[in-house]
Amino acid sequence: MPSINRRDFLLSSGSCAAHLALAASVMPAIARARWTQPLGTLVSREPFGNLERIADGVWALISTPLTGDRTTISNGGLIVGRNAVLAVEGFNQPQGAQWLAAKARALTGRWPTHVAITHYHADHANGVAGYLAGDERPELHATRRTHDLVVERNQPADPSRVAAIDKAAFISADQPSTLDLGGRVVRVVPRRGHTESDVSIELDDPSIVFCGDLFWNAMFPNYVDAIPIQLGQSVRALRRTRDTVYVPGHGALGKQSEYDRYVSMIDEVERAARAANAKGLTPAEAAAGFSLPASLGEWTLFSKAFYERAFTAWYRELGAKQG
Ligand SMILES: [Zn+2]
Repeated sequence: MPSINRRDFLLSSGSCAAHLALAASVMPAIARARWTQPLGTLVSREPFGNLERIADGVWALISTPLTGDRTTISNGGLIVGRNAVLAVEGFNQPQGAQWLAAKARALTGRWPTHVAITHYHADHANGVAGYLAGDERPELHATRRTHDLVVERNQPADPSRVAAIDKAAFISADQPSTLDLGGRVVRVVPRRGHTESDVSIELDDPSIVFCGDLFWNAMFPNYVDAIPIQLGQSVRALRRTRDTVYVPGHGALGKQSEYDRYVSMIDEVERAARAANAKGLTPAEAAAGFSLPASLGEWTLFSKAFYERAFTAWYRELGAKQG
């Protein structure tokens, strides 16, 4: 096991990265194999992730941080139109963003012209300067709140990251907006719940949703900044039809059954948190007595600390005593 003690781990915020690094050490081999099994067509395999073609002009980068490689950590992808190439997420390190941009050029002949970041967490945002290479200056999109949180909370600060995010065009936090890539319109929908400012990146035909961290596939999510009631509402609002492909923030591509399993799982967390609160248990006590029912399948969880975070988030919501 890596030597990060539980207290440091509970207190560290701003990233899902530590969570994943630790998860890597205990994830059963069988779950790792499933993680890396592509739903799309594999076009590139790297130590940090797999690039999968989901549809004409749409690729997802499914990160595989369980190898210990921290270049990207979060998932992301590319959406290509006649006139523009949108890259989704800034990833954990500039090398990750730069790698995806180079793949865009190799696959489409163009460096990304646009970049959208779903939320401020380090593993989705900190590599954003990697898109600025040579004369390339793609238009960066993030909500104002995401911009502010990247600057304030993602430490240690990096001047090139701050310079890049400072040029962001702000996504409306009040209503959906669109990006016309030429023959392909992408909807950018402001949501909340994983953090105080999340966005989803959505295509209607074919039906593909880049969920950011509002969806984690077969991994127990990080509730460090969660607003659980809004999370539940956002997760339900994201759900579509049988044909939809969901690109989670972490874990493999999902379809309806994986998505619904995730909804059931977060509902189970809510039920347990409300019951524990009614009994007067602390979040730590509640977490110690909690396990997910086998009917919900396998969820990667390396430590009860993540259950405690989820209960703590719920207790904030319920106005309950924390300890
Ligand atoms: Zn996150």
